[in-house]
Amino acid sequence: MNSLDRFATEKLDVLDQAALRRRLVETDRDAFPWVFRNGRRLLSFSCNDYLGLSVHPRVKAAAIEAARRYGTGAGASRLVTGNNSLYGALEQRLAQAKGTQAACVFGSGYLANLGVIGALAGPDDLILLDELDHACIHAGAQLSRATIKTFRHNDIADAAALLEAHRKHFAKALLVTETVFSMDGDRAPLAALAALCAAHDTWLMSDDAHGFGMTAPDAAKAVVPLHMGTLSKAIGSYGGYLCASAPVIDFIKTRARSLIYSTGLPPATLAAASAALDVIAGDPALAGAPLRKARLFTERLGLALAQSPIVPLILGEPEAALAASEQLAEAGFLVTAIRPPTVAPGTARLRFAFSASHEDEDIERLAATIESRLGPVSRRAPVEALP
Ligand SMILES: *Cc1c(COP(=O)(O)O)cnc(C)c1O
Repeated sequence: MNSLDRFATEKLDVLDQAALRRRLVETDRDAFPWVFRNGRRLLSFSCNDYLGLSVHPRVKAAAIEAARRYGTGAGASRLVTGNNSLYGALEQRLAQAKGTQAACVFGSGYLANLGVIGALAGPDDLILLDELDHACIHAGAQLSRATIKTFRHNDIADAAALLEAHRKHFAKALLVTETVFSMDGDRAPLAALAALCAAHDTWLMSDDAHGFGMTAPDAAKAVVPLHMGTLSKAIGSYGGYLCASAPVIDFIKTRARSLIYSTGLPPATLAAASAALDVIAGDPALAGAPLRKARLFTERLGLALAQSPIVPLILGEPEAALAASEQLAEAGFLVTAIRPPTVAPGTARLRFAFSASHEDEDIERLAATIESRLGPVSRRAPVEALP
């Protein structure tokens, strides 16, 4: 065996032994919340399609119409010929939804974080990250070559101590958190973080990948100057965005490398995202549904009250999470096991994502199945109430 294949094989063996190897499983989402996998229909609690918009008739029709009119690909980077007129309409809707002057759409949420963090911070700067920030926030910070300090999850005192000790040694400082944490479902104390950042001349950026489309505008919004997010979850399409002031967006559009050196999104993707935003704007009740479903679930099982549509059931070792996922699959539910390094060692879990598309009876059946197949559920100490 050559050294390349030997490297790959040995790495795979190590991962297999630790139950940490990941495999792609063919899954057709043709009737969400039902999906087709391994020859079976399963009710999915693992899609981030919180509002069911990826299969909404109006959203699908908009995508089909855009593909008919403009074709399937963008043709080039946005700065060359890929800046279809659908971008302007979409960015206007995003800025309006976030209450900012402007917006910039990227190829994905991952690319948005790489481009935005890299454009705003450099080797002379300081970046503070919550320890549970998403992998692509960490990647963006590393790519920027700034000095990175990590504070304990949602711990304002820890973030304050880091800023007091280090801020003065750096030209600029950026603090990045998540509006709703992707694997725990809890929320950042944005108002307190904003006050802290203001006191230390530090720019606050919040990744709203799991919040957008589901929460009413909150008071903290006005004090967050950098709203980053994705179009691939509640919006049911694909792409990422930054909403910010006009000068910041103009700067990002001329300097973010993941925008400049990557092809624009397909027109159908842009049209779908705009149509989804119109559906959300036209149906105020829709946004509250996923949280209501999640709370039905946590109340039914006696878990800490859900703060978002994401509810983790922490089981510990990867083997335990995989076995629990298999138990639920046998009963007709798709709930993927989440293992390290996505989450910390010892906190492998089932992650439930609730959608407006779930019926209340589906949630009752899921809870009853969990009780009968997994026994009484335990959960890590409940997340602290919002300040
Ligand atoms: C999913 C996710 C991203 C990445 O967004 P994509 O559009 O899927 O690339 C970024 N941040 C967080 C917190 C996420 O959960």
